[in-house]
Amino acid sequence: MSKACMVERIDTEILIVGGGPAGLATASALPEGTSSVLVHQDREIGQPVRTSGGCWMRDVDRLGLPAELAHPVTCADIYSDYEHLTLDMSSDPVGVLDVTGLYRWLAHQSKAEIRCATKYLRTQREGGLYVSRMREGKREYEVASRVIVDASGWHSSVLKSLQLGAAPVRRGIGIEYEYPAPAHDPNRAALFFGSAVPTGYGWAFPTTSGALRLGVGLIEPDSDASPKDLMRDFLESGGLDRMGLPVPTNFHVNAGILPSTPFAPNLVFGKVIRVGDSANMATPTLGEGIRICIEQGRALGAALGARSPTALKRWERDVRRTLALQYKIGFAANKRAAAYTPDDWDRSVVRMKTLPPEELLRFFRNDFSARMIARRGAQAFGRKLSRTLLGR
Ligand SMILES: Cc1cc2nc3c(=O)[nH]c(=O)nc-3n(C[C@H](O)[C@H](O)[C@H](O)COP(=O)(O)OP(=O)(O)OC[C@H]3O[C@@H](n4cnc5c(N)ncnc54)[C@H](O)[C@@H]3O)c2cc1C
Repeated sequence: MSKACMVERIDTEILIVGGGPAGLATASALPEGTSSVLVHQDREIGQPVRTSGGCWMRDVDRLGLPAELAHPVTCADIYSDYEHLTLDMSSDPVGVLDVTGLYRWLAHQSKAEIRCATKYLRTQREGGLYVSRMREGKREYEVASRVIVDASGWHSSVLKSLQLGAAPVRRGIGIEYEYPAPAHDPNRAALFFGSAVPTGYGWAFPTTSGALRLGVGLIEPDSDASPKDLMRDFLESGGLDRMGLPVPTNFHVNAGILPSTPFAPNLVFGKVIRVGDSANMATPTLGEGIRICIEQGRALGAALGARSPTALKRWERDVRRTLALQYKIGFAANKRAAAYTPDDWDRSVVRMKTLPPEELLRFFRNDFSARMIARRGAQAFGRKLSRTLLGR
């Protein structure tokens, strides 16, 4: 107990706030025996689901995730009001994750003590330590740590408390109905744009359990619609019929928020570090964050294990090298697309038809090749950037 107020205090080296993929992956890569605590405000890891779980099968393999937790999909139908494209993804299949199963699997590998149903409230400095206040039910206690990792997602709870950052103003908000779909082709996903989802976008993903995740999303404040209304209007629009998707029955609802702001290169603030959505790590093109959170969370865990400021700075620099330019380009596309009218979407789907599938998939993956960058460079950043990138 701290004498001043007789509040229980736990001492640990590393405090991780947030039990999503970023926090769990960080905890999983800490060296064995590291004194660490992870707090998570939900009652259990992986529930409720706040994401669609779309990924790429090659990342499932590369990151060593259990293959049975991802459902492979090799075909996607893309719709606007008057255009339609069937995209063959067999060269780079998409996966749809069992999100709860994956997060539990990550938690199983955690080297940190995980405390669920525990809300992080605030932090203050005490000498060389960070003293953070937690609430678990009606009880409050403190965690004193040398290092804090903000993995609280879009909340950015730690950064906010220490006035190092703020929750994002521009945010992607999505709602999803997950329901049994035994007659749906398990190899077929759909993406849709245009007047069926004005100011937003929609998707349908088949899952590992034979269900369908039907979702709609939008970016606020670019749009002032509510995802719930968008979903209701979509279901009444006849869109399901046109796309051959089953009507939701016995569904449960997944809903979530993610930042939709430019990539922020500062990740390390002395001994406070941010990772995952609290550092805008989801791709700007499709808002795909899980694989990046796992990869960068693991790299952060290893850097923390090295116990040197240089290792943390190296991690920050490596993340910046990997993401900064790619995300700058992706974010420009995101901003443009957020203002598209239904006619723009028709034109966009026509353009997509002219691209080789591999190039379109790279765009969705926010993975722009030097050739694609050079083309964009000439258009958007001018000849100078193009010369720098291509070295001539
Ligand atoms: C609608 C939607 C669809 C998406 N679809 C995909 C997709 O198909 N594929 C993909 O890869 N990504 C997708 N994403 C993005 C992906 O979900 C995120 O990038 C990813 O979850 C970020 O992980 P994270 O660990 O940084 O944050 P989160 O997953 O948000 O986890 C942070 C956790 O911290 C907890 N927390 C927050 N504040 C506190 C506090 N004060 N105390 C204790 N705990 C706290 C939260 O409860 C939360 O569980 C989607 C996101 C949304 C919103």
